[in-house]
Amino acid sequence: MKLEKSIELYTKGQKHLVGAVNSPVRAFKSVGGVPLFIDKAEGSKIFDVDGNEYIDLVLSYGPMILGHRNRKVEKAVKKALKKGTTFGASTKGEIKLAKIVCNAFPGMDKVRFVNSGTEAVLSAIRLARAFTGNNKIIKFAGCYHGHSDALLVAAGSGLATLSIPGSKGVPDEAVKNTLIAEYNNITSVKEQLTKHNDIAAIIIEPIAGNMGVVKPIPEFIKELRTITKEKKILLIIDEVMTGFRSKFGGAQELLNIEADITCLGKVVGGGFPVGAYGARNEIMEMVSPLGEMYQAGTLSGNPIAMACGIATLKELKNKNPYKQFEKTAKRIEEILLEAAKENNIDLQVNRFGSMINPFFTKEKVTDFKTAQSSDTDKFKTFFWKMIENGVFLPPSQFESWFLSTKLSKKDLEKITKAVNIAMQAVATKTKN
Ligand SMILES: *Cc1c(COP(=O)(O)O)cnc(C)c1O
Repeated sequence: MKLEKSIELYTKGQKHLVGAVNSPVRAFKSVGGVPLFIDKAEGSKIFDVDGNEYIDLVLSYGPMILGHRNRKVEKAVKKALKKGTTFGASTKGEIKLAKIVCNAFPGMDKVRFVNSGTEAVLSAIRLARAFTGNNKIIKFAGCYHGHSDALLVAAGSGLATLSIPGSKGVPDEAVKNTLIAEYNNITSVKEQLTKHNDIAAIIIEPIAGNMGVVKPIPEFIKELRTITKEKKILLIIDEVMTGFRSKFGGAQELLNIEADITCLGKVVGGGFPVGAYGARNEIMEMVSPLGEMYQAGTLSGNPIAMACGIATLKELKNKNPYKQFEKTAKRIEEILLEAAKENNIDLQVNRFGSMINPFFTKEKVTDFKTAQSSDTDKFKTFFWKMIENGVFLPPSQFESWFLSTKLSKKDLEKITKAVNIAMQAVATKTKN
């Protein structure tokens, strides 16, 4: 396939950009080869600068749930753009989006908008510390909560593939209050709780999506809620990836638990940089200007981003695509498993709503350790064959694929074809 222009831009980009990217996963490090440079996208498709067309299962890592260039969203953004881009003062759109978001999450009275998921989570942690007066937090191995210092420990995806135990430049003091537990293992949480009594919060991805998709065991998530309530520890549910993905609102409702603080990002901005954290009044009233926890942002609640978020969520609510997502994801699971079986390849497929991904392993994937048993070389072969056959996947074994409402029957046929070819290639490569 022709990738000349991507190669050229990748080379050019190295000069003034770090590795020619602005976020590491885009460099394709874990699958090798040249990263694609994108020209444009439309509906379920994305086009690179060489004119190659792909079905987009990356969807900007989640936000583009309606597919690209949804006309209603585009119209709303254009309308907002004509009124100016930022004012450093409040606008009607913020109130509107806040109402939509709070109504979609039970137990959320107030919300604060920020500019990214990272910012939402780091603010939520500060808030939990302010509210409880405690400093320690517990996070789960393989869960990713953005790139703030305290949370760059055992953090999945990009970090999982690169096997970096955190990051250089993060001082020991910044992570000394971060305790690690194992996903789906309540005993590991209890152990931390016996050792430490000054815990402000436990933070979790309700459906883990940054070590590949890993679902919580219902008992685990239920017990987590019970324990945190008993010990007056806040439960922060990081729905940056899962928010508005599997239902209108969050995964917590599907799992029958309620967060003390919920974090949002990705879909809530519909493709513009928006993050949010919200909670009941008692907690949110700690936040400045009502309370003494400081958190601010020059561009927070940006009017164009708000317009995009509002239009995206309205469309989602109208379309209510969640049953269809479930069906489509199930179909993709079948396609993957059938092709793997035919080619004698060990494969697990995990999915939840519109999040799905295969793991090249015999082991059932229930946590970070089992996710890591995956054969990343096999994924690499699989990935490039999918690209060659017109399907754009996240370039890592440990990222979820995402579905959009634009994915058509024809697209599914193309995916099926690509999967069959890619699995064959994996099998051939394994034999040699
Ligand atoms: C993507 C993600 C983040 C970070 O959001 P950014 O907008 O990339 O800063 C945090 N938590 C989860 C669960 C995510 O998936």
